[in-house]
Amino acid sequence: MKIIEQVIAINRVKCTKCGDIIESVHGHDFRSCSCGAISVDGGHNYLRRVGDINGYIEMSGYGYEERIVTPGMEEHYKKEAILNNFKIIED
Ligand SMILES: [Zn+2]
Repeated sequence: MKIIEQVIAINRVKCTKCGDIIESVHGHDFRSCSCGAISVDGGHNYLRRVGDINGYIEMSGYGYEERIVTPGMEEHYKKEAILNNFKIIED
């Protein structure tokens, strides 16, 4: 079985106070802007924002990745496909 999954390609914000653009590039890459108003974390795994949640412009972007489901996990993916960010492209 093959699926196409939506993934975080860029985890990045711009602080509206100091103008800094900060980016988290891996799971535990916690970055703060120079004025300290906003921080980003999570890399390509999740989008975590800490600080002034109204004080930044979101600049993140998504991409798509094709991957083969581990044998034995097909039924799990068939059930989850409705809820999650992927599509089954080959049964
Ligand atoms: Zn700032």
